[in-house]
Amino acid sequence: MNIAGNLLIGHSMVRGNQGTSYAIDAATGEQMEPAFGGASQQHLDATCALAWQAFDIYRETSLEPRAQFLERIASNILDLGDELIERCVRESGLPRARIEGERARTVGQLRMFADVVRDGDFVGARIDPPQPDRKPLPRVDLRLRHIALGPVAVFGASNFPLAFSVAGGDTASALAAGCPVIVKAHSAHPGTSELVGMAVQQAVKDCGMPEGTFSLLFGSGREIGQGLVRDARIKAVGFTGSRGAGTELIAIAAERPEPIPVYAEMSSINPVLLFPHAMQSRGDAIARAFVQSLTLGAGQFCTNPGLVLAVDGPALDGFIRAAAAALGDVQAATMLTPGIHMTFERAVATFAGHPDVVTEARGAAPTSQSQGQGALFSTTDVAFREHEALKEEIFGSSSLVVRCRDLQSMLELVESLEGQLTSALHIDEEDHEAVRRFLPALERRTGRILVNGFGTGVEVGHAMVHGGPYPATADGRSTSVGSLAIQRFLRPVSYQDLPESLLPEALKTSNPLAINRRIDGKISLAQR
Ligand code: NAP
Repeated sequence: MNIAGNLLIGHSMVRGNQGTSYAIDAATGEQMEPAFGGASQQHLDATCALAWQAFDIYRETSLEPRAQFLERIASNILDLGDELIERCVRESGLPRARIEGERARTVGQLRMFADVVRDGDFVGARIDPPQPDRKPLPRVDLRLRHIALGPVAVFGASNFPLAFSVAGGDTASALAAGCPVIVKAHSAHPGTSELVGMAVQQAVKDCGMPEGTFSLLFGSGREIGQGLVRDARIKAVGFTGSRGAGTELIAIAAERPEPIPVYAEMSSINPVLLFPHAMQSRGDAIARAFVQSLTLGAGQFCTNPGLVLAVDGPALDGFIRAAAAALGDVQAATMLTPGIHMTFERAVATFAGHPDVVTEARGAAPTSQSQGQGALFSTTDVAFREHEALKEEIFGSSSLVVRCRDLQSMLELVESLEGQLTSALHIDEEDHEAVRRFLPALERRTGRILVNGFGTGVEVGHAMVHGGPYPATADGRSTSVGSLAIQRFLRPVSYQDLPESLLPEALKTSNPLAINRRIDGKISLAQR
């Protein structure tokens, strides 16, 4: 397929007329062809109208055709072949192996949601049969299912140009729930976005889904992105990016005449807690694994370990020495965009110039523009408590080690942290008693607590939570990775005393969808 720089509005490819933009080769800084036309207000309006027209039809598509549609998107993405991989590598600066892995994850996610749709548990069907003879009052016939929220605006993430962009987790979970999707393409990878967008558009046609089921718009976040969130026909938002943009979108959504949920993933420093026995017995090995996680993908992971907490002493000195040595050997790596690189450099310089912060190590020096050079800093518990700026995320390979007076001080620092996507504990059996005291504090502010590992590497599964209290995400009650993500785009509806012929399939007494249901409070397994 050819990248033409077009908007994908329903079945059509349309030339945007609101300014032009180009992709930038992340490694060389060169402008790449073709020019992308930005969407106008008229394009936005036409796109939302199509999505709204599609909504009632698409959300009632039966489970099997919807599952096949998701699978068709996956196979159409694979059919893009090397063209997609090569374009994505150039636009993101990420290595080919990483992009190939990300494509596999994207396809795997779509197939997982196809299985979730087929299974039908997400409908959450419940039936409380009537009890006409109940005294003093008869009980009504009450049935419940979950329906799709409505058209969803998805903002592609810069750091996952495939797995969290046009056909990534937010899109897959929204489509699985029965929501049409309008993607606001990220300006960092427009060619990748158009290619994947064409694969989704083709799947809509192949599977006979309503035209407005999917659209892709190019244009600035402030204009097209905010315009989408303001549009009354949009009923939910999926976003991954900066805290500034995320909070702006949350405010816009809350101020609408009809406020809507914004599932924004924004900022997390992912504390790593090193417990005394583990430090003593294998501090060097933990340090080497830590540096690998810190520098993976130039540190551009939302789960990057940006903070290390440990009790001060010789064992921590040893950890810092080993981590510094390992970091010194790590090549600088191309960052996603010149803007992200500049923000990283600025934040690292601010830490380096802070009077209470020691620069423990830097990675190897950059050899070309837009390469991020790793950084490891340390500070004291007193300084960390005093300076809020030290708790801010630096997006890239930078981490701050905090020397804590004792375990109590370490616990107090945990209590001072904002919401986090992950918290990683390095422990031996002898540390279990101490860890027990930390768990309530960690649960209150973390989406995923993990032991003897690091948060980078997010398994796409059924028990995964990639979320956490604000500002890790806008709504800690949900996850953006894993099958539970479908819940974000659903809401329950009750049907009281509806005649059988008017009931939705999921709730008919004969159970034509053959899904599991809760009858009178008890799980009733489908006969399949
Ligand atoms: P970003 O600037 O927040 O952009 C993300 C998306 O939001 C883009 O589509 C962007 O549009 C749009 N946007 C930006 N400002 C907006 C606004 N005021 N109103 C509406 N939409 C807006 O994020 P980024 O460019 O990907 O990265 C910048 C920083 O975000 C990083 O340095 C890092 O700190 C953070 N980040 C965090 C994560 C995470 O997972 N926690 C992931 C990626 C980035 P355009 O395409 O037009 O710019």
